[in-house]
Amino acid sequence: MMGTNGKSDDLRFIVIGAGMAGILSGIKLREAGYSDITIYEKADRVGGTWRENTYPGLTCDVSSHSYTYTFEPNPEWSHRYPPGDEIQSYFEGVTSKYDLDEMIVFNEEIVRCEHADGRWQIELSSGGRDEADIVIAATGVLHHPNYPDIAGLDEFEGELFHSARWDHNIPLDGRRIGLIGNGSTGVQIVSALASRAGELYQFQRTAQWIMPSQNPAFTEEEKARFRKDPASMREMKEEFDTGDGVARFTNAIIDADSDEMKEIEAVVLQNLEEGIADPDLRERLRPTYRAACKRMIFSPDYYEAIQSPNVELVTTEIDRVEAKGVRLEDGRLIELDLLVLATGFKADRFMRPMDLIGRNGLKLEQAWSKRPHAYLSISIPDFPNFFMLNGPNGPVGNFSLIDIAERQLAYIEQLIALVRSGRCREVSASSDAMVRFDAERIEAAKKTIWASGCNSWYLDAEGVPASWPFTQKRFHDEMSEPHLEDYDLIG
Ligand code: NAP
Repeated sequence: MMGTNGKSDDLRFIVIGAGMAGILSGIKLREAGYSDITIYEKADRVGGTWRENTYPGLTCDVSSHSYTYTFEPNPEWSHRYPPGDEIQSYFEGVTSKYDLDEMIVFNEEIVRCEHADGRWQIELSSGGRDEADIVIAATGVLHHPNYPDIAGLDEFEGELFHSARWDHNIPLDGRRIGLIGNGSTGVQIVSALASRAGELYQFQRTAQWIMPSQNPAFTEEEKARFRKDPASMREMKEEFDTGDGVARFTNAIIDADSDEMKEIEAVVLQNLEEGIADPDLRERLRPTYRAACKRMIFSPDYYEAIQSPNVELVTTEIDRVEAKGVRLEDGRLIELDLLVLATGFKADRFMRPMDLIGRNGLKLEQAWSKRPHAYLSISIPDFPNFFMLNGPNGPVGNFSLIDIAERQLAYIEQLIALVRSGRCREVSASSDAMVRFDAERIEAAKKTIWASGCNSWYLDAEGVPASWPFTQKRFHDEMSEPHLEDYDLIG
């Protein structure tokens, strides 16, 4: 609420989602002195994507000490790349350490959010209502499973689920398992199940480049050093976030003709040539598009797993799913006990299906009729005091989304400070800034590797890469301080 002196120290905040970015928001906003904060979480636990994804083999391909809040280093990570359940425990531990449970309302989904009378009016799935001066959408990107449009899926008599809805009651050992998809998820599942399934069939529609990687465990000596000297963890984090490797990878992505990209291409090609013994299998695993066009897959053991005698890579197209299994275009029926859909997510949803209505009745569906977009990934014109973390057009890829969210939140806090100090009541990106940013972004996106001729969730409905197409440095510079001339400051 705005005080009579035009200043406000008791702004009311609503944060949508208690995943990585929602937890971060709760901690940082409270640290900044705000006390009236509610985080609404549709599920019964924190953790977001790490709560939803529990599939065998789940590992983050961002290094452990980088996939960590800067203010909460974790000397206990078991491996260089963290397993999913450790990440979930980390978020639960941070939530409890910072007493966030008291500000989180679980099992409550925000279904409508409308800006009226200078505040955000919130409707909840339970029928309840709430109000806020500031809304932070921390809803994540990949949370709506994509169910493939394959005929007969509902006729299958075995067990069937999406990779993000893993049913741990279903036995795996010795069984006939089918897996549709070979993105980061499908590849990790194959690696984990090759030694357990009786027969494992991976249905591949498009081949993937695989970057070799190693995932050694941290030794007890290393962990003891991390405990004693937290700076050593920060160094590892810095090295991953801003070090040469990431900078080179970013340069490669945004300039498909760069030397860095040629290096990446050479490594994945060598991995394929040397990693797969059978020439026929090698050809079926050879992509016909350039490396990193789809999100780069890192794996220490996928090629080994796919060559196991009980594992078959199926590249003949799927005709339909039947009661007993998957029927291929050539008439072959692959009988299965379990069929897993590792078919990805609808990446353009963001805070939807929530109805979001900004100034003068402007609906998000109208604002985003062409494509989801946000100025610097943070703010949408005419949606005042509504800010997104990991929103559209931000840096996604093989980077730490925690690092990105922390930088975005620090930037958003500077905008909120304008409201807190009474400089304005409402702040949102101006239409001019949005148009200019979008035009520049789309032009730059054409040069990226994502636009080099493949299909992926990086592309919007018109085939334009949606992610941040500039350097990492530019993102860091932009996030250091808002250019206020790019914002409508009202009231
Ligand atoms: P994805 O990369 O979107 O891959 C989906 C897979 O399903 C693709 O192989 C796709 O084939 C296939 N597919 C979709 N519809 C199909 C259909 N109708 N018929 C046959 N195949 C179909 O999804 P994901 O593997 O779940 O990964 C999504 C993202 O989550 C990743 O890119 C990454 O950002 C994140 N992730 C990260 C990690 C990690 O850190 N290691 C692990 C898992 C996920 P096409 O290629 O032919 O479209």
